Amino acid sequence: MTLNATNGRVDGSHQRRIDRGAVERAAADLLRALGADVDAAALEETPRRVADAYAELLTPQPFRPTTFPNDDVYDELIVARSIPFHSLCMHHLLPFHGVAHIGYLPGERIIGLSKLGRVVEYFSRDLQIQERLTTQVAGWLQRELEPKGVGVVLEAEHLCMSLRGVQKLGAKTVTSALRGVVRDDARTRQEFLALTTRTNHEQ
Ligand SMILES: [Zn+2]
Repeated sequence: MTLNATNGRVDGSHQRRIDRGAVERAAADLLRALGADVDAAALEETPRRVADAYAELLTPQPFRPTTFPNDDVYDELIVARSIPFHSLCMHHLLPFHGVAHIGYLPGERIIGLSKLGRVVEYFSRDLQIQERLTTQVAGWLQRELEPKGVGVVLEAEHLCMSLRGVQKLGAKTVTSALRGVVRDDARTRQEFLALTTRTNHEQ
């Protein structure tokens, strides 16, 4: 998936084409293969519900990533903590969910804080792995904002891990992508990581 931000708008022109009829048939096949009686009244609507659910989970909402000139020359970290997100693991088609912490040191442009959540949401609506989601969000901010630095930390519970095998329920996977001064300048990196660590302890 590539992000089309032409004219400053993240549109859905690249979105995958979802064939709902085929998804419904496949869901019915899967149920049969799992030994379920697809003719039972309780399962009658299940293939359609499955198709609706996957379509929603895999369809990113377009949004306008409005940025503003940094007229006040704000030159400290801007951090949005504990942005909730959920996505779909591409290896098991099971959800992973958690929170994102995003910080950037602005250059000439700043972005509305609510848009940070929209960016995470946008890339979450895909068959994902957490590492890729993390770097996609960081890369997008780097490209669109050209900040002096950016940091993205994702903490998530993967149902494919916590519901299977020996993994404990609630175990978190943490990934990070640091760019520019957030990666290279020790003081800025410390500040960013301290802010996200403090959040961890509060939860
Ligand atoms: Zn998985």
